Amino acid sequence: MNQYAVPVVWSPTTRDHDPAHEIWVGVATEGTEVSARVDAIRDSATAAGHRIIEATAHADEVLRRVHEPELLEFLATASDRWREGPYAELVGQDRVVPYLFPTPAMTGGLPARPAVAVHADAGRFAYDTMTLVGPGTWAAARAAVDCALTAVDLVSAGEPVAYALCRPPGHHATSAGFGGSCYLNNAGVAAESLRVSGHERVGIVDVDAHQGNGTAAIFYDRDDVLYGSVHVDPGAGWFPHVVGYADETGAGAGTGATRNLPLAEGTDDGPWLEAVQHLADWVIDEGCTALVVSLGVDAAEDDPESPLLVTGGGYREAGSILGSTGLPAVVVQEGGYHLPTLGGLVTSYLEGHGLTRSG
Ligand SMILES: [Zn+2]
Repeated sequence: MNQYAVPVVWSPTTRDHDPAHEIWVGVATEGTEVSARVDAIRDSATAAGHRIIEATAHADEVLRRVHEPELLEFLATASDRWREGPYAELVGQDRVVPYLFPTPAMTGGLPARPAVAVHADAGRFAYDTMTLVGPGTWAAARAAVDCALTAVDLVSAGEPVAYALCRPPGHHATSAGFGGSCYLNNAGVAAESLRVSGHERVGIVDVDAHQGNGTAAIFYDRDDVLYGSVHVDPGAGWFPHVVGYADETGAGAGTGATRNLPLAEGTDDGPWLEAVQHLADWVIDEGCTALVVSLGVDAAEDDPESPLLVTGGGYREAGSILGSTGLPAVVVQEGGYHLPTLGGLVTSYLEGHGLTRSG
C-alpha cells in the first residue's frame, strides 16, 4: 500500500482552552470539546506515519477579512475583563458566561450600545450559553487559526493535501459571533487565505454532523467561495436548529453557491457518502481550483453529539471521494468527541484522501 504521509499541522497552544463546563438547558454539564482531543488525534496521526508539523505564527490580516474587529477585540480581552470584575467573589468561577442577549426581542429597535459589564456584553457576541470564554481560550483559538494558515502555506508550496489539527473547532463561528464550541472560523480563514493566494474559486465541503452555520453565513452572498454541507437535519431538532435547510442556497452574488444536504437521524454510510460524492462533483462542476474540507468526525456512529451512523470505513471512503477531486486540499478539524475512536476516525479519513493522492 502506498500511503501518502499527510502533513499534520498542530500547536501545543491549542490545548490551553479548557471548556470546564457548558451551560446547557440551565445546568452546568461537562464540556466535551476538551484538550485531550488534540492528543488523541496527534497520537493516531503519529502512529499512522503522518508528518507532524508545528504551526507557525501568522499575522491577523486574513483573520480580519473573515471576522469583525469587535469580535476579535472581545475574545482577546473578555477573560481579563472577567478576572478584573467581581465574579471570583460573586460566583466563584472564571468563565465568561453571557446572561442576556441584546437581540431585537430586547432592544425593540432602540439604539442599543455595548454593555459595560462583561457578563452583559458577552451576549453581543455569544449566541449560546455552551461556549464559554476562559483564561486560555483566545490563545488556543488564535493558535488554531495559525494551524489552518500553516496548512494553507504547505498546500500553496505544493503539498497536495495538508491537515490542520484545529481546536477549538470553528465552523459555527460567524463573522461577528461565536457559539457551538467555536470561536474563530478556521475553515473560513483557510478558504479566504486560498483566495488571497490566487485561487479564484474555492470550495468548502463540510462533513461534520452539524451544518456549519458560521461558514455558511460568512460566504452566503459571495460566489468566490462555495459552501456545501452534509449534516443531520436541523428540522429534526438538531444544532444549529434555525438554519441548515436545503432551500438555503445563497443570496445576491452568492445565489446558488451554498448547498445544504440535510439527512434524517439514523442515516448510515450509504446515503451519507452519496451526499459527499454529490458535493465533490459540485465543487468540480463549479470550477473550484482548491478545496477546504471541514472534517468533523462527529457523524460517526459512536459519537455522543449526533444521531448519524457513519463508520470508520465511511470516513475513509469520504477521504477517497474528496481526494479524487484532484484539488489541492486543506483539511480542517471540526467536531468529533468520542475520545476512544476520535483519532482513528481522523486517520481513516486521511488514509482515504492520501491514498488517492499517491495513486
Ligand atoms: Zn458537529
